[in-house]
Amino acid sequence: MSFNIAIDGPAGAGKSTIAKLAAKELSFIYVDTGAMYRTIALALLRAHTDIEDAEALAAALAQIEVGISYEDGVQQVYLNGENVSGLIRTEEVSDMTSRSSAKPQVRAKLTDLQRDLARRENVLMDGRDIGTMILPQAQLKIFLTASVRTRAERRYRELAGQGEVCTLEEIEKDIEERDYRDSHRETAPLRQAEDAVLIDSSDLTVDEVVGRIVELAKARMDSAWK
Ligand code: C5P
Repeated sequence: MSFNIAIDGPAGAGKSTIAKLAAKELSFIYVDTGAMYRTIALALLRAHTDIEDAEALAAALAQIEVGISYEDGVQQVYLNGENVSGLIRTEEVSDMTSRSSAKPQVRAKLTDLQRDLARRENVLMDGRDIGTMILPQAQLKIFLTASVRTRAERRYRELAGQGEVCTLEEIEKDIEERDYRDSHRETAPLRQAEDAVLIDSSDLTVDEVVGRIVELAKARMDSAWK
């Protein structure tokens, strides 16, 4: 039986940085579900799809195939065979992702892919609804959060490093809007699973958070496989 770790939390809490490192330390496969939703959003932007039109959305989704593979342990995402990993982190795609991922049709398209991976492999999967909807049976669930200001500052540094022009205030507003949309949507809203361990990373280093998760995972694995 595979061992599954679910990490959920709001945008910019450090999920992907932390999940990647913890997965490496545990020799688990890291699955970034946000990248899958971003891939669909990129396709919808390219096709100029009106996502409020259910028929147009269904027609567009029928043309989209999302695939993933691993290169040197790093997840790559494919849109109809094209590696789009380098194209999905812009603010435009982030905004479309948070809108389109609220649509049940979009979520349904990715659910099986995510569950299949978790059935076959020891995975550490990060997202918004992994502990609550996708892998409710996960042996370890983490809800990772941080203050809005901390998350905005992290995102600002990341975008500035990529040469994108933006202000901290714009990012803070954007994060607040995405938080609101992610936690208030009808389908699979962002919320902490009852049995998730809450970690606030505002005043913790990356190494401290990774250490905590690895320690929890090892303790659970010991008791699960005894
Ligand atoms: O994790 P990341 O910031 O890349 O996710 C981008 C967006 O994708 C989120 O703001 C959220 O709207 C959506 N998402 C989701 N469910 C997931 C992962 C991401 O709805 N499991």
